[in-house]
This record gives sequence, structure tokens and C-alpha cells, in this order.
Amino acid sequence: MKLVNCPVCEKRTLGLRAGPGRTMKHRNLEVPLPDDLALPECSSCGARPIDWKTAKSLDPILQAAWEAKLSSLVAADLEVLAAIRPLYEWERLLKLSVGYLSKIRGEKTPGAQLVVLLRLLANDPERAAELESLWAGASSSPDPE
Ligand SMILES: [Zn+2]
Repeated sequence: MKLVNCPVCEKRTLGLRAGPGRTMKHRNLEVPLPDDLALPECSSCGARPIDWKTAKSLDPILQAAWEAKLSSLVAADLEVLAAIRPLYEWERLLKLSVGYLSKIRGEKTPGAQLVVLLRLLANDPERAAELESLWAGASSSPDPE
């Protein structure tokens, strides 16, 4: 492997690397990189300096990985929520049309705001009661306990 100086740590440890288990941030998520995709990476400091040309070729790969991850997060969160109460009740709570949550299950790009909301509720389903209270007109500031 040809090694060159890393622009970050300046050690001669920058080379093209591929392999499993690598991720890269795309938009709001850390997404997996294809195992066979070789990218410049510093074995000393871990920096991955990406030039414009590489970034342009990476874009569709990262976008596809992002869509797949977003879709799988929605599916997993909906599974958690559906185990607690039927999806139509969640739809009513979230002021969504009937069948909307089932519809977005296989979508490539469910809206990020809805994904965030589903993530929060799946992580702490007890917050559904708080949401119902807020919809009913309760103050949004929590009561001191
Ligand atoms: Zn480095």
C-alpha cells in the first residue's frame, strides 16, 4: 500500500483502506460504508481526508446507506410502538392520518422530523401520556417534583 503524509497528523500513514465495520456520518446519521469501498484513511490518527472528486462519488453511496438506515430505524421503532398499542392509536396521538405509520414502514425517505419523534417515543413510550396531556392543553413546562 502506498502511504503518503496525513494532512491532519502529518505522519506518513495515510493510505487507501477498505474493510468491514467502518462508518461515516451522512446528514444526521452515522451510516455503514460498503466493505469493499477503499477510502484514504490515516492509520495513525484515523482521519479520512476526502477530496471533492471522492466526495462526489461517495454521495450516492452514503445517500443509499442513509435511506436504508432511516427506513430500518422506522421499522424497528414502529415494531416497539405497535407492541404497546395499535398503530392507529399512535396515529391519532401524533395527529397523523389513519394508515400513515403503516405506509411509511417501507419508505426510503420517511420525514426526518417524524423519524425523530418515533425514535423518542419508542425509546420512552411513557411519554405518550405527556403528549396526550400537552394536546389537551396542559402547560409545556414540567411541574417541579
Ligand atoms: Zn493522521
